[in-house]
Amino acid sequence: MLDINKIRKDFPILQRKVNGKPLVYFDNAATSQTPQQVIDVIVDYYSNYNANIHRGVHTLSQEATDKYEAARNTIQKHFNAKHSYEIILTAGTTESINLVASGFASILKKEDEIIVSALEHHSNIVPWQMLCEKTGAILKVIPMNQEGELEMDSYTELLSDKTKLVFVNHISNALGTINPIELIIEQAHNVGAAVLIDGAQACPHVKPDVQALDVDFYVTSAHKICGPTGVGMLYGKEEWLTKLPPYQGGGEMIDQVSFEKTTYAGLPHKFEAGTPNICGGIAFGAALDYMNAIGFDKIANYENELLAYGTKRLLEIEGLKIYGTSKNKTSVISFNLQGIHPYDVGTLLDKMGIAVRTGHHCAQPIMTFYNIPGTVRASFAFYNTKEEIDALIEGVKKAKMMLS
Ligand SMILES: *Cc1c(COP(=O)(O)O)cnc(C)c1O
Repeated sequence: MLDINKIRKDFPILQRKVNGKPLVYFDNAATSQTPQQVIDVIVDYYSNYNANIHRGVHTLSQEATDKYEAARNTIQKHFNAKHSYEIILTAGTTESINLVASGFASILKKEDEIIVSALEHHSNIVPWQMLCEKTGAILKVIPMNQEGELEMDSYTELLSDKTKLVFVNHISNALGTINPIELIIEQAHNVGAAVLIDGAQACPHVKPDVQALDVDFYVTSAHKICGPTGVGMLYGKEEWLTKLPPYQGGGEMIDQVSFEKTTYAGLPHKFEAGTPNICGGIAFGAALDYMNAIGFDKIANYENELLAYGTKRLLEIEGLKIYGTSKNKTSVISFNLQGIHPYDVGTLLDKMGIAVRTGHHCAQPIMTFYNIPGTVRASFAFYNTKEEIDALIEGVKKAKMMLS
């Protein structure tokens, strides 16, 4: 069992009030809150050893470099990558996907096919459309069903020896669906295609093992896992990272530079041009340490309890419809009240101190599929409680009364 009272004390922001009411933070799918343990690491960095890394001989630079590389090792262990140089530190999921998409510009040929799913975040759609424009490759889409699950039979039919790459999210940020990525990866490999998994929404809930998954690329952002914004990672199999060209040119990513010819640094530095988010990288490692100390099994169990309770209570409200009803889902509940715009519900909830997301959640194709402008999305983390869900229920009932 989780000691929720103790855990909640780790998060200073959970003590604050919003519009005179205790904050109920249910926008975890957009970004998670930061525990004091991670805030302390950030303060310590700027207070005691702020310096540029990998280049100074002086003590501060050495200390910063050691801590930065230690964080990379923490991330490697967490995801069970074979080598620490297979972990590329980036600005986040979006940058990681753009890095891979940009690299595939030199690999894909006209008429090659790449496959996306209907459940994606825009950051796992748009970079690939840009890649198709550049290369003449063709984008195919795995359709979804009413429950918000992928149509796996259609996926099998889409695969062929023309397929070069498949990219899907591990968990949908808009609906909470857990996708069968093991099967997706296996079937893609059977036709010789590589697979990129967008893990931004999965990593707060599960601990992926990239070697067991045999995935080619796995990407995530630190800010959804109790870390800071503007930092994340790209895991890539060594053979793929060796094959892909550098993403950006600049300092740190080179071996030798002359005006005639420049040679590139080895992994991971080949993909890490310029001064990185040093403090962010170190705090990313601290965030994983924090969550691992609690334990992902316990986190998942507790969040599933919150999901079951929240689903049951919300469905008691007449005229409320939940989008995303897969049996395989995490603690994300997208819903609408009949005849009421999600934005209005969200605005009233905010007046009651309850933070939810409203809109298309950067996943417009899903909203188009359901023929709705958007949803109200309540997403729970391990520091939320059933009492907070009760407050949400009261809030939604009040909003319904005021708006209908
Ligand atoms: C949050 C999220 C992203 C984007 O992450 P950034 O940190 O904004 O780059 C991509 N995909 C999914 C599934 C997400 O939940």
